[in-house]
Amino acid sequence: MTELEQRRRNVQTALAGGTSNKPKADALLVSSLANVRYLTGYAGSNGLALVTPTETHFFTDPRYALEASQTITCKLHIAKGPLQEAVAGIVKRKKLKKIGFEPAWLNLDQHQKLKDLLPLGASLQPIPGVIETLRMTKSPAEIDMIRKSVRVNSEAYARTLRRIRLGMRERDIAAELDYQMRLHGAEKPAFDTIVAAGVRTALPHAQPTGHRLEENDLLLIDMGACLDGYMSDMTRMAFLGQPTKRVQTLHDAVLEAQLAGIDAVRPGVTAAQVDAAARGVLKKHGLDRQFVHSTGHGLGLEIHEGPRIGKKDKTVLRAGMVITIEPGAYIDRFGGVRIEDTVLVTANGCEVLTPTTKEFVHL
Ligand code: ZN
Ligand code: ZN
Repeated sequence: MTELEQRRRNVQTALAGGTSNKPKADALLVSSLANVRYLTGYAGSNGLALVTPTETHFFTDPRYALEASQTITCKLHIAKGPLQEAVAGIVKRKKLKKIGFEPAWLNLDQHQKLKDLLPLGASLQPIPGVIETLRMTKSPAEIDMIRKSVRVNSEAYARTLRRIRLGMRERDIAAELDYQMRLHGAEKPAFDTIVAAGVRTALPHAQPTGHRLEENDLLLIDMGACLDGYMSDMTRMAFLGQPTKRVQTLHDAVLEAQLAGIDAVRPGVTAAQVDAAARGVLKKHGLDRQFVHSTGHGLGLEIHEGPRIGKKDKTVLRAGMVITIEPGAYIDRFGGVRIEDTVLVTANGCEVLTPTTKEFVHL
């Protein structure tokens, strides 16, 4: 059985598993493109999948006909009209009644249209998170892809760092990072590359601007690569000159929190416990109120997936999960520090996949 077949089988098992004689649904309509890709390998922009207890149907439009005919290994339907019409056709032909859908990935308009198209006696039922839950644990092949993505990302960072000079704009650096990423095999950045200098580092999600690097600027770079669909994510800090004691102290506190977070990662602990480990260190340094986001997130086919490494997430970590550990502290009109690695949960602990040094680089 191929990996894609195994994934589809797992969805079928999950669907059947309401109770043994009362399945959750007769089929699951998959409309999240990341979930469609996970089940079929389709990487385009217009596709739906319908998983029934015995088959998986994939629907796309004629623009993808050739590519799909060469790559899709489940039942392929090239729809001339709206994909939902074709889905409704299969529901009717197979006499399916209870159709599960992904409530996070079907908007109200699509839901209404689909409802109108379904044959009499068929109904729609929200079934959230089936595939997202399966996706949290990565297969060895997926872990290999993430490793590659991480390597390319770090290579692009290292090559760009050597080119950074006073007077460069934040957006020059972002462009160089993106260019180096693609040059080394990424299909695109995993998200809009964040480059922030000086007081702008206090904005956790700063967009690069025309600000030119000055002496004594703190520099934050948060970047990720997307390679064969798989994401990486890393944040590093640098300083233009010799950091003041206050900057160094802030940096060291965040680094200590990041290392404590990594130290807590192992199978059997909850995401919330990992968050608490990092947060506790920042609290000790009086910086917990400056830590305005969660400690990390899962990543894979999407840059943000489950589990969320936050205060309230009770997800128990398992070997094969890939998460980020990225505490930060942000001080208005002064600056902010975040340090982020991509981390694999292993059988006895974890492996930091990101090879880049966390040393506070002075440029
Ligand atoms: Zn990041
Ligand atoms: Zn991240």
